[in-house]
Amino acid sequence: MVSYWEALEIVLAQARSFGTEEVILDGAFGRVLAEPMRADRDYPPFPRATMDGYALHHADLERGIRQFRIAEVLLAGSQPVGRIGSGECYKIMTGAAVPEDADLVIRREDVEEWKERMEVGVKEAEPWRPYLNIARQGEDLRAGDLVIGKPCRCDPAIMGLLATLGKSTVTVARGPRIGLITTGNEVVKPGEPLSPVQIRNSNFWMLLGALRREHLDLSGSAHVGDDPEQLMGMLERFPDLDILIMTGGVSAGDADHVPRVLEESGVRRLFHKIAMRPGKPTWCGVSPEGAMVFALPGNPFSCLVNFALLIAPYIHVCQGLERPVPMALPLHSGRKKRSPLDEFFPVRMEGAPAMLTQMPLNSSGDIRLGLQANAFALHPAGSGDLGEGAEVKFYSFV
Ligand code: AMP
Ligand code: MG
Repeated sequence: MVSYWEALEIVLAQARSFGTEEVILDGAFGRVLAEPMRADRDYPPFPRATMDGYALHHADLERGIRQFRIAEVLLAGSQPVGRIGSGECYKIMTGAAVPEDADLVIRREDVEEWKERMEVGVKEAEPWRPYLNIARQGEDLRAGDLVIGKPCRCDPAIMGLLATLGKSTVTVARGPRIGLITTGNEVVKPGEPLSPVQIRNSNFWMLLGALRREHLDLSGSAHVGDDPEQLMGMLERFPDLDILIMTGGVSAGDADHVPRVLEESGVRRLFHKIAMRPGKPTWCGVSPEGAMVFALPGNPFSCLVNFALLIAPYIHVCQGLERPVPMALPLHSGRKKRSPLDEFFPVRMEGAPAMLTQMPLNSSGDIRLGLQANAFALHPAGSGDLGEGAEVKFYSFV
């Protein structure tokens, strides 16, 4: 039996790229950007008015000029036709390029304006200085500067940035081809008739949801009964995968055939059993074709924890993202230690100052699955009960 930390190291040591692909910008949302980004030009690309107002020569103010003739009106996106002389100004809008012959923008609210003239100094105003209310060309970035240097998730800010840089297609990390085989004689599809001793297949939907949140999908899926022959046949139907996830049948019960069948079909075992709760019976290996095989206990909550703490980190690292780093916060209410193992329990990180509130979960078989949790907290092996306000490590999964 390995600890969770050992299991994570073993899994991450197997990480490999699934390759990259080019997608149109619309297809990049939530995917992992796999190419560095450089500024295609200076940013701002031109001296930009940051206020609606009047652009003029600072030197005119130094010379005591207070009244200015409005030579032109500059809207965002427009360029001046002429130039301004002494005692002249441009009326200018936020986002417009400040022409070369102006070096200061005075806010509209700081002047008196008439039809074709404006006067400064009659109202209380910001103190003047060169480049007031002008974002100077290149003050954020110079053309060629590295903006994104490592893989990152295309969140809304990244999407906006990619658009700014003029990208209409981008290179993203390819997602793994993932297969899911759920097992169990007692497990029935939702919507199908079930006997009083059967239950519905929640693992399929839960794991599909977990994958979709990662902007991934299943390449194939199947459900098989607790029958070694059927299991063996099913494995042969999933040849070209990067990851195979199986659920159920990995413990010590009479119907738990999965580890033996996997080993008989040539999957090399990396570990069996993790000293953690839930998720203890987890089996993990590598197929002869190089696919990672995660055989999880059937218990839905175990599957969820294993996915978040083992499978998602594996996929992230394969795609070039950072490995998970725990954070720590105080626990809202105390918790009893139930076993000598590392225990992960569902919490909701909330409040200001932030705290961790335990979410409802009776046992790892509780169908509520820690409803509304947004993180798993760790109650470490070797520690006693946790008191109210105890600082605990947790992994956020949203
Ligand atoms: P097992 O790991 O096969 O011993 O299953 C552990 C528990 O999880 C049992 O109570 C199973 O009935 C339940 N279980 C197994 N597979 C599923 C599934 N796909 N959906 C919901 N519960 C399941
Ligand atoms: Mg079973």
